[in-house]
Amino acid sequence: GGPTVQDVDFAKQDGLVPAIVQHATTGQVLMVGYQDQAALQETLESGLATFFSRSRGTRWVKGETSGHTLTVRSVHLDCDRDTVLILAEPAGPTCHTGADSCFDEPGAPATSAPSAAPSAHFLAELDALVAARHTERPNGSYTTELFDSGTRRIAQKVGEEGVETALAAVAQEDDDLTGEAADLVYHLLVLLRSRGLGWSDVEQVLRDRHRLPRGR
Ligand code: AMP
Ligand code: ZN
Ligand code: ZN
Ligand code: ZN
Repeated sequence: GGPTVQDVDFAKQDGLVPAIVQHATTGQVLMVGYQDQAALQETLESGLATFFSRSRGTRWVKGETSGHTLTVRSVHLDCDRDTVLILAEPAGPTCHTGADSCFDEPGAPATSAPSAAPSAHFLAELDALVAARHTERPNGSYTTELFDSGTRRIAQKVGEEGVETALAAVAQEDDDLTGEAADLVYHLLVLLRSRGLGWSDVEQVLRDRHRLPRGR
């Protein structure tokens, strides 16, 4: 089981602790609110993220008017037990502005990278999209065209993009290099998928190597 209200140090800051909400599957930071003991208690009992509104001076279930509730998957405390971390599944956009996250740039598309931080998870997201294209083969999709052209042709593309990336690294601007590296990674995901493999298979190898002593 997770923490109980007794575990939390509410005394430090006027009976309130910050509560950070992260998306339970993507890890995207969705919002930050404050909780008093009753709000945390209700969060743990109801399974819906509940906060204390400092401006209104009342307890507030996130989504009580918008319907955009946060279903709690787990609750964690920080090292000195004065900050709460909630992993939750959002029922809709979490910010009252309509953005998925309170930390999204205004006007950014909903599919943009989570918050400001680059995320390794995006590679998994892209790989999932590539996998869906592989199964569904929608017309007019470049990825569909690649899959239809076969593994040999995709392998050739990866070779070309690899050479372009190498050339950009020694003779071109940063923008060219990041562009070619993006081409390379995308085509690599398509190549792996055409062989029935996914990014997670490569990640597993990287993780295993990471645990090995230096110098392989
Ligand atoms: P909701 O909880 O989504 O029904 O929204 C009710 C009210 O709570 C809004 O009008 C805002 O005042 C406030 N609120 C909702 N979402 C957030 C958020 N992510 N961060 C801060 N305040 C919020
Ligand atoms: Zn702390
Ligand atoms: Zn917001
Ligand atoms: Zn290229």
